Amino acid sequence: MRKKALICGNWKLNHNLSQTKSMVEEVSQAIKNNELVEVVLAPVAPLLFAACDLAKNTSLKIAAQNVFYEQKGAFTGEWSVNHLTELGCSYAIVGHSERRQYFNDSDEGVGKKARACLDGNIKPIACLGETLEQRENGQVKKVLTRQLGAVLSQVKESDLENLVIAYEPVWAIGTSNTATSAQAQEAHSILRVLIADKFGPDRAESVHILYGGSVKWQNIKELMAQKDIDGALVGGASLTAESFLSIVEGSI
Ligand code: PGA
Repeated sequence: MRKKALICGNWKLNHNLSQTKSMVEEVSQAIKNNELVEVVLAPVAPLLFAACDLAKNTSLKIAAQNVFYEQKGAFTGEWSVNHLTELGCSYAIVGHSERRQYFNDSDEGVGKKARACLDGNIKPIACLGETLEQRENGQVKKVLTRQLGAVLSQVKESDLENLVIAYEPVWAIGTSNTATSAQAQEAHSILRVLIADKFGPDRAESVHILYGGSVKWQNIKELMAQKDIDGALVGGASLTAESFLSIVEGSI
């Protein structure tokens, strides 16, 4: 049986308090009777408290867009997994390509963040994916192997059902250049095999592998029809309830 789809909206640095509140309310209302898709929204960090409060007692889950791997100490500007747990977050995105590009998130740091999340009952959505240059140089498999390896080195077999991987080719993010469903499936299959090499094929099946990069209602069905695509991480098209909900609908 196919596992439950997972659709996560990544708002990045968008939406103020009132927009966040009204979208959380609208989306949680709309998905009330939907048991087929796990729906997640990731607002900006300062608004997680308000979002978690409104999503409490609904099936909508809230994700942070980032988290640090230390629990406390002299790390100005950071927050920990414990804070997310306390707020009622269920997920944290780690290693998004914008974090890797602008904030120097490293493979090793992303692995440590994933570990910290798993230890604190927050499901990490660990992002990875190649740049256009790497794709053109035939390095997709090499890059994915390195990036996923840094995450898997921190993961035990018992963590797998709580681990989410998001394949986000950098050239497809915010560009309207969605990977074709065949390109996405090829990368997802590489990732699934790498997980299976370490933990066996049955255990590898329990990991959700999301696709991200210009997902919209027009392409979600075809992406979800691929064997190894278990959901989507959606940026631009998650910013209005109407557009996000049409993707949630289309994922079933
Ligand atoms: P996009 O962003 O859907 O706007 O391409 C996806 C992401 O960065 O997670």
